[in-house]
Amino acid sequence: MNLNYTHCFSVSDKYENKIFNIDQTKLDSLEKQVLITHGHTDHITNTPQQALTNKINKEIIDIVLPKNKIDFKIIKQNKTTDLTDRIKVTSKNAGHVLGSSMYYFESPSKSLLYTGDFATKDSLLLDGAQPLEADTLIIESTFGRENFVFPERKEVYDDFAEKLANDLQQNKLIIVGAYALGKSQEIIKFINKYLGVTPFVTQNIADINRVYEHNEQHLGQYDILNGNIKEANIIIVPPNLIKKDVIKTLSHQTHKRIATYIVTGWDFYKGTSCVPISDHADFNDILDFVKKVNPKVVYCDHGFHKDLAYLLRKKLKVNAKSVSEFSKKNILDFIE
Ligand SMILES: [Zn+2]
Repeated sequence: MNLNYTHCFSVSDKYENKIFNIDQTKLDSLEKQVLITHGHTDHITNTPQQALTNKINKEIIDIVLPKNKIDFKIIKQNKTTDLTDRIKVTSKNAGHVLGSSMYYFESPSKSLLYTGDFATKDSLLLDGAQPLEADTLIIESTFGRENFVFPERKEVYDDFAEKLANDLQQNKLIIVGAYALGKSQEIIKFINKYLGVTPFVTQNIADINRVYEHNEQHLGQYDILNGNIKEANIIIVPPNLIKKDVIKTLSHQTHKRIATYIVTGWDFYKGTSCVPISDHADFNDILDFVKKVNPKVVYCDHGFHKDLAYLLRKKLKVNAKSVSEFSKKNILDFIE
């Protein structure tokens, strides 16, 4: 098993001349297969025709990219699949969004864990990712700086519920900005459970909800926005729809004052309207995870990869590298 990095990581078997890219997001001229970790669009654009992933991710991708021509090979969660005679892969829950997978690769003498986007804390809907010991770890470093330590989720839920209850008492229309895949479903469940109110959602959120529901993730009640805004107390929309002119129009249409919130791990320390619910591991979660995987080498990818590599070297004394240190077509030191 070789580990390579060009524009994404790939695992290859030189004896069989097979290469498996992971979350390929740039066009690649060579004939390769791709392993897909989850259905967020920044991980699936330019997926070539042959891709391996689990059934839930396929269902989500068919909604998010309805015209995709991907030839899916379905692999089961927690079941080991032979990629070649020497390389096996096991798809494990990544705790990020429904269907999200980490990939655990094994060759006769080496192991490699690729987290993809991951979260280790349980949410209202998903269990957190569990670490597995591996020789090499490729870790998502979105929140790879020390200032990204989020409050406990229960605390955030309680605080958010109190704010929303106040807004409802003042007869405000509440608009919550949340990504269509992952956050929106958590917020729908949260609003049902904590406030007993039925939120209204955009059609693209409702489309994803159906995948959650038929995979036995019960979200509670919701209605689809369709000219019925006057009936709504709380609406959930993708964050890019939260704009001044949209809010003004909604206020005008409904004759209500508007309260807006964005559910995000970013900049939570700056704004009062940001709700620090994230579907990514925070800095402390990342450190705990690395300790438990106990790798000989860590590669940091996405977000603050340079900072995280530096901090892992400093705090945990592990051999950590950032993707920015690799030159193109570099073959990494992971050869069996
Ligand atoms: Zn993601």
